[in-house]
Amino acid sequence: MDLPRTASAVVIGGGVVGCSIAYHLARRGVRDVLVVERDAVGAGTTSKAAGGIRVQFATETEIRFSLESIAVFARFREEFDVDPGYTRIGYLYLLAEERQLRAFEPRVALQTKLGCDVRVLGPDDARKLVPALRVDDLCAAVWGPSDGMAGPTEVTNAFARRARECGARIAEGVEVTALVLERGRLTGVRTSQGDVLTPLAVNAAGPAAARVGRLAGLELPVLPRRRHIFFTEPFPEIPGPVPLTSDVSSGFYFRKELEQVLLSPGDVEDIGEDTRVPMDWGKVEETVQKAVHRLPILEQARIAGGWAGLRPLTPDDHAIIGWAPGVEGFFLAVGFGGHGFQHSPATGHHVAEWLTAGRPSLDLSLFDPGRFRTGAAVHHDAADAE
Ligand SMILES: Cc1cc2nc3c(=O)[nH]c(=O)nc-3n(C[C@H](O)[C@H](O)[C@H](O)COP(=O)(O)OP(=O)(O)OC[C@H]3O[C@@H](n4cnc5c(N)ncnc54)[C@H](O)[C@@H]3O)c2cc1C
Repeated sequence: MDLPRTASAVVIGGGVVGCSIAYHLARRGVRDVLVVERDAVGAGTTSKAAGGIRVQFATETEIRFSLESIAVFARFREEFDVDPGYTRIGYLYLLAEERQLRAFEPRVALQTKLGCDVRVLGPDDARKLVPALRVDDLCAAVWGPSDGMAGPTEVTNAFARRARECGARIAEGVEVTALVLERGRLTGVRTSQGDVLTPLAVNAAGPAAARVGRLAGLELPVLPRRRHIFFTEPFPEIPGPVPLTSDVSSGFYFRKELEQVLLSPGDVEDIGEDTRVPMDWGKVEETVQKAVHRLPILEQARIAGGWAGLRPLTPDDHAIIGWAPGVEGFFLAVGFGGHGFQHSPATGHHVAEWLTAGRPSLDLSLFDPGRFRTGAAVHHDAADAE
């Protein structure tokens, strides 16, 4: 595709967030939307996601994002004519200490108030859900039966295809290298294939968001952190489906993927902003230790492979959505950490609404880009299972 020389909006990044935004903008009738993706659609950190989807968040805004997104996943096949592999396997949090339960209680109360099905269970009830679990060191579990999973690749490709059908263009293999600013206002983007004039650019660059922010002189606190996932050889001794089960004390989580078991040590590592994400095979030992502690039968399993990806975190674990402070025409949809995939439907909808109607219909102040400067950022105990 020849890169257009003008666009009404340029979305920087063709991951699940950028493609959802482009789709929603185009669907709302915005003409000449252009997504610029330096690699291929969905090839960024979206391709590393475990596909988990939960209502179990700590804030009303994020729970509402989840409810709205889950409704989209549930009707995805009708809206996009694609099976996203959406299944309600549930999320199960395992708690070993009373203080963890105390931290979960207000979240469960808020989730319940907002209409979510979330229950506190005793350890034996947790074992009824996953019979292979060791539960003698647990004091409770928190169970969300309506949580689940879907395929990040299927969902991203569906957003991209529908965006194109609605008139958006997606340029792959093209990198944004500079933002063109005149007196504090964005007038275009410079790319590896020339300039594009535009009054609006959306930073949806995932783990590279801070780098793209610096093109406009901004310091965005988006901190890419490495996380590993390993998978076993087929292991029918733990029959599926099982909930995505997270051991809150160790950070370890697992779920089944067909016959295999996916295992993550829950690592959070700063390896710099590099786009290459090397595997650390030393992590296998830590993962197996945590896994065998919680699922002793896994001693009989063999690790068959794994991967690592970057989760674009922020200091308070909430995304950054809104106009970039001090740069007219530059919008931010970044810092989605471990939940960018599951919140992509709601993100696309609200960003497009904000950009076309002047404001979003939901209070998005939780995501305010200026909150770190003003001290308004509040860290909620994230229990970020992914
Ligand atoms: C191991 C792991 C497990 C995860 N599990 C889950 C999960 O279970 N559930 C969940 O919801 N989330 C999960 N996540 C998080 C999820 O993957 C991310 O939050 C989400 O994919 C972010 O999407 P994005 O579109 O913002 O980023 P990306 O997919 O990285 O998209 C950004 C795109 O921007 C492009 N780009 C960057 N700079 C430029 C530039 N200058 N010019 C042009 N293009 C550029 C990149 O190539 C990239 O394709 C997980 C993440 C990891 C690492």
